[in-house]
Amino acid sequence: IGGHPKPQAGPVAVAGVDRIIAIGSGKGGVGKSTVATNLAVALAREGRRVGLLDADIYGPSVPRMMGEERQPKSPDGERIEPLHAHGVTFMSIGLMLEEGKPVIWRGPMLMGALQQMLNQTNWGELDILIVDLPPGTGDIQLTLSQRFHLTGAVVVSTPQDVALLDARKALGMFETLKTPVLGLIENMSTYICPNCGHEAHLFGHGGVAAEAEKIGVPFLAALPIDLDTRLGGDAGQPVASGEGPMAEGYRRLARRFVE
Ligand code: ADP
Repeated sequence: IGGHPKPQAGPVAVAGVDRIIAIGSGKGGVGKSTVATNLAVALAREGRRVGLLDADIYGPSVPRMMGEERQPKSPDGERIEPLHAHGVTFMSIGLMLEEGKPVIWRGPMLMGALQQMLNQTNWGELDILIVDLPPGTGDIQLTLSQRFHLTGAVVVSTPQDVALLDARKALGMFETLKTPVLGLIENMSTYICPNCGHEAHLFGHGGVAAEAEKIGVPFLAALPIDLDTRLGGDAGQPVASGEGPMAEGYRRLARRFVE
């Protein structure tokens, strides 16, 4: 408290980490963490060394989705030992907080926590570090983009107009911050009735693909509403760790980041 802020340095890399890819969204609840987790697992299955940092301060759900919620250890009080599950090395801001307590942090505290998790975690050598951002356009996004060298960001949206409206704000923020947008992902794009096979567009249709075309970035995937995805997330067994069409879909998506 007090004193002068340090002069801001340019963006830096994280030691041992080749590429950092942020996954963002305009709104919460569109499946950003689900996509980040499954993408990380699929990348690991494609033979990459993958880290996943859950920086979603308002709803850190990665530990639950990965099925590993132990408090990370710091034997020397300096370096943090990350957790491992499904071939992925991960760390979550949620594991550093007291469960059930609301988070009322000011910007500088958030920035400190994010920097600590990036710089003091023993990530080892990683090909890709996926960062699950909080929804929206706040301090975490700013700090990550301005202080760290990001390869780029992926934005997840549902086809619903209100979600897309907010996704555009997130896209505008990345543009302002000069963070390359690597593509858009439409989640919950269709629902296929398990009884009759009828395909319904519960949240609308085609909006995310049209937006990607409009701003000239790749449309990376259209992921359906899928019971196994939801069950796998709740059970700590990401759908991408199994077999079947969703796991295949996530592996196809993963290959778009490693080609
Ligand atoms: P966000 O990170 O955007 O807040 P989450 O990934 O936590 O969203 O997802 C919100 C809820 O929706 C979770 O319960 C998750 O299991 C579920 N969910 C996400 N994507 C899908 C999908 N494609 N099909 C079914 N359920 C999904």
